[in-house]
Amino acid sequence: MQIAKALTAAKVPNPSAYKNSRGLTTRHFDSDPYHWNANTVVHILERKEYTGCTVNFKTYTNSIWDKKQRDNPEENWAVFENTHPEIIKPDVFKKVQEIRKQRHRRTRTGKSSMFSGLVYCEDCGAKMRYCTTKDFEKRQDHFVCGNYKSNTGSCTIHFIRAVVLEQLVLNNLQVVISYVTAHENYFRQVMTEKMSLKSAEIVKSAKRKLAQKEKRLAELDRLFIKIYEDNVAAKLSDERFAMMSEQYEDEQAKLKSEIISLQVEIAEQERQAENLELFIKRARKYEGLNELTPYALRELVKAIYVEKPDKSSGKRKQKIRIQYDLVGFIPINELLQAEKQRETA
Ligand SMILES: [Zn+2]
Repeated sequence: MQIAKALTAAKVPNPSAYKNSRGLTTRHFDSDPYHWNANTVVHILERKEYTGCTVNFKTYTNSIWDKKQRDNPEENWAVFENTHPEIIKPDVFKKVQEIRKQRHRRTRTGKSSMFSGLVYCEDCGAKMRYCTTKDFEKRQDHFVCGNYKSNTGSCTIHFIRAVVLEQLVLNNLQVVISYVTAHENYFRQVMTEKMSLKSAEIVKSAKRKLAQKEKRLAELDRLFIKIYEDNVAAKLSDERFAMMSEQYEDEQAKLKSEIISLQVEIAEQERQAENLELFIKRARKYEGLNELTPYALRELVKAIYVEKPDKSSGKRKQKIRIQYDLVGFIPINELLQAEKQRETA
């Protein structure tokens, strides 16, 4: 909606107006050539073809009797890469899909935070909620753990002000960026080792889960045939058969989607060398970063974990942990420590 508003304000011709100007006919006629619908923008953002591929089987029809076009789930699409020049980089496209999946709640005041959807509670893992009111000054906006409710919640408040969070994240990014750009080779070496250990672990566990799910899926197929035969042989009532087959179908659908996310995870892990290079490239791109923009944030950061404030020193100290995009957690303190030792050696 925000993009549509901006395009309308900038008087960019909408797709129908553009087609008309090229002498092509359009189904929809909009009297205002500069009016953009939110849906048009969504359609463009989700269009994988812009990354240079061809996508087939996006819709299907049930049978020759029912010709209604239905949306085919993405895992059933056939994607042919590099069939025409890209106009959007694949990693940008992927990032956009990630951002769209996150619930980006706009508050009633219309204010929103670039951190929305990225901040998690370190203790309970819940997303932290963005709180603001129209009377708040910027310094009063804050995040609290989603499991916190004044007396009854299952987690403590984990309160962090948005300006504090911004400063902490910016500092963290600056340290990491300057480290990566100054010691690229050493960083690559350490991260390759760390990531391949981690990755081997993840792949092993994902593959084990995958095998279990696939086994269960095959079992369900056999069970389904069994109840079908029992039903035909009148050993199982139609009503009971309908109920059981519905249960099987639900479980089957759930298993199938779990199998796909495991497969995606395995493929993702196996691309880690590529991801590491991409991260280094991005760090270089943001060399000298002195102000955090939403775009830089999304390109570098996947999630931010906020720890409970530490008041042991009498002052309120708050720590955060950043899960970086593409590479995960970076042991920056250890890296800096090692650097110091190498300098003195
Ligand atoms: Zn919590």
